[in-house]
Amino acid sequence: MVPRCLRLSNGPQRRSWRLLLALGMLLTASCGEPAKEQEWNVLVIVPDTIRADHLSLYGYERETTPALERLGTESLVFERASTVAPRTWQSFSSILTGVTPPVHGVRHIFDNPIPKSIATLATAFSQAGYRTGVFEVGNFIRQMTRGRGFDEIVGAAKPSAAEPENAEARLLGRLFDWMQRPGDKPFLAFVSLSGGHWPYNTGEPERFGSCDAEDHSFNRGSYGIELLGVGKGIELRNADAFKNLIWQPHDERTREHVIVHYDAELRLADDMIGFLLERMRQSSIWGRTIVLFTSDHGESFGEHGYLQHGPRIDEPTMHVPLLVRLPQTHPSWRGGKRVDSPVSVIDILPTLLDAAGIENLDGLPGRSLLDTAERASSRFLYGETGRSFDGVDPERHYPGVRGKQRMIREGDWKLVYVPRPQGDEYRLFDIGDDPGELRDVADAQPDVVKRLRAELEHVLAADPMDEDAEGLSPAQKVRLRKLGYLQ
Ligand SMILES: [Zn+2]
Ligand SMILES: [Zn+2]
Repeated sequence: MVPRCLRLSNGPQRRSWRLLLALGMLLTASCGEPAKEQEWNVLVIVPDTIRADHLSLYGYERETTPALERLGTESLVFERASTVAPRTWQSFSSILTGVTPPVHGVRHIFDNPIPKSIATLATAFSQAGYRTGVFEVGNFIRQMTRGRGFDEIVGAAKPSAAEPENAEARLLGRLFDWMQRPGDKPFLAFVSLSGGHWPYNTGEPERFGSCDAEDHSFNRGSYGIELLGVGKGIELRNADAFKNLIWQPHDERTREHVIVHYDAELRLADDMIGFLLERMRQSSIWGRTIVLFTSDHGESFGEHGYLQHGPRIDEPTMHVPLLVRLPQTHPSWRGGKRVDSPVSVIDILPTLLDAAGIENLDGLPGRSLLDTAERASSRFLYGETGRSFDGVDPERHYPGVRGKQRMIREGDWKLVYVPRPQGDEYRLFDIGDDPGELRDVADAQPDVVKRLRAELEHVLAADPMDEDAEGLSPAQKVRLRKLGYLQ
């Protein structure tokens, strides 16, 4: 028998997040004080797993993101933003530090934290006199930063089918409360939400399609967590769980229904964020608050043979949304402007520092996206895969960092590097003409390949690759031994 959707049909509970959020906001709405005249607050919203081309903000046919469309009319909207890796830990670490994974060293989920020697968004704004808070579903930002630079750390449970939104709604209520708190310091708030992350069982799929007679086995599974009884080291230990979950083949009908569910997750995230933004618009902080919206990576629906994200660096998982909303009184305000220059999530930190009037950090490779000339100039963008698909992905030939696929992008050109024992492979795609990355044109464009390979060689030469044959760094081995995974 085909099961019904794995979600609650309980109307009052589904709507209760609005009540919770409104209650928290009503209690605090009158407490706000404007920040000092010359200082800007900063709110960074990063839901997980938001694939750019599934947002109505970017022309998607379903109305998945009406609130972001409205925010877009007030923002610089980046049409071609790339993440550095289709994995949460690597990508968030780059958003927070402004450097790529080979530089900050976080190459893997549940990897070691960002080294203390590397400045972060939180430490930079804290040193500039800001009060700083992270509001996150789960606690991985706290883990990867060790809490460095944050005055306030608030975590919430992941939404589940049993309680789809309430924990996130409470989190956003606490965020609003914190932002409104009286004081003479401006704030930096970093918000990490569950977004469109699998399982897709908290939204309302009936918005976009019928669930009757559909196969919902795509929402079952546990990443092997239940099998192991723990939540750490899973990618190192349980390739079969990934294989069953990510590489299982689906017929076209099921694939389309997976997308119905995913789109419903996006709409739920947009509803909650829209509710927050609407309350902010009614408060005194709105006129002094910079809002940046992005995601850590996208999502794959079988375009390249797998579901979810991580093993490859194709566009469904690398193309992320990026909006920068400045108050109208900000000197760089150009609301509603669309920008099609390729940009990277490593540009977020220099952009926010620039927007807030704080001096840039030394050595950051990214650029402020408020600078039109910088956006237009030629540059290389870097990306890499996760590293945990040994024995699962037929295109993964070495363990650890050595086996990662890499991307070098310049304009519409995208070089994909696949390390292989029988000879490394270099594929070239023109993602302007071929957004599905179906035609490898490396043989027809030797000069482009040569130029992009030269940049790749720089990256590889500087990559510490400090791992043994099992793909573990010495520090990681110590950590895993403490957790009981290694003898
Ligand atoms: Zn993620
Ligand atoms: Zn369904």
